[in-house]
Amino acid sequence: MIRNPVPWPHGARCAVAFTFDMDADSILHLAHHTSADTRVAALSMLRYGPEVAVPRLVDLYARFGMHQTFFLPAWCMERYPAAVETILTGGHEIAHHGYLHEHPNACEPDEELYWFQRAIDVIERLTGQRPRGFRAASYRFSRHTLDFLIQEGLIYDASLMGDDVPYLLENDKGQVIELPAHYAMDDWPHFMASRDLGYMMSPKSPQQAFEVYQAEFEAMWEYGGLWIAVWHPFLSGRLARCVAMAKLIEHMHQQGQVWFATLEEIATHDRHVMSDGLWTPRRDRLPYYEGPIPELGPAAPTLAR
Ligand SMILES: [Zn+2]
Repeated sequence: MIRNPVPWPHGARCAVAFTFDMDADSILHLAHHTSADTRVAALSMLRYGPEVAVPRLVDLYARFGMHQTFFLPAWCMERYPAAVETILTGGHEIAHHGYLHEHPNACEPDEELYWFQRAIDVIERLTGQRPRGFRAASYRFSRHTLDFLIQEGLIYDASLMGDDVPYLLENDKGQVIELPAHYAMDDWPHFMASRDLGYMMSPKSPQQAFEVYQAEFEAMWEYGGLWIAVWHPFLSGRLARCVAMAKLIEHMHQQGQVWFATLEEIATHDRHVMSDGLWTPRRDRLPYYEGPIPELGPAAPTLAR
């Protein structure tokens, strides 16, 4: 089913990473800059992430002796230093998630680079080291993001969805390892509801959402894949969801032959097995397109769309 499964450490059947995007209220300021301060209920819902959920999640993962990757917009690191301290004290990785959750593919290249570098400066100042990995806000990786990842020396990206195992993103300037996820593994479609942010979907029960995550795990375990959760503390850190999360972690430990790791550890391992000739990744050359496809250019007959 998977043509090039990664030889995971210790004979593990699959690799598992619970990753958390601690967006806090950055997303509200981005969406409603001039009125975010008046949307108090939405602010309280989003502040639940750094204030309540992050300490709970760090305690939960300490109980299982597991370390995870937290993606933080750098503005959130400046705004919520206690959450940063809690994450670092718990031994977790902090990775790059923009400065204010800006969408790279909505920026001009020079603007994208400005925010990208500004976020790196904050991460370096508050953690003592440069980030190793990046996830574009809302997965909105741009046509220029790979250039900036290479230029700034990051080793992995976790924004794209092109495989069940790691693969390489490359262009003329270099390459980074892609650690892919997909929407079924994101808690947003399962749980997000916010009138202020324009999402009025019915939240699923924890059991329904975790049925999806568990099915993904069983398949990845069977065929040697990479299971990456893309979860938000203000959503998945809510109490009943954390209870379901603990049950899933217990199930994974009972099943055994699972490598629990941070994304930095997974990317580093991938580089080692590549250089030792033990694994050949699939390669995606970017950009996929230089611009809009010519078949639908101005001279083309109108299509019914
Ligand atoms: Zn985010």
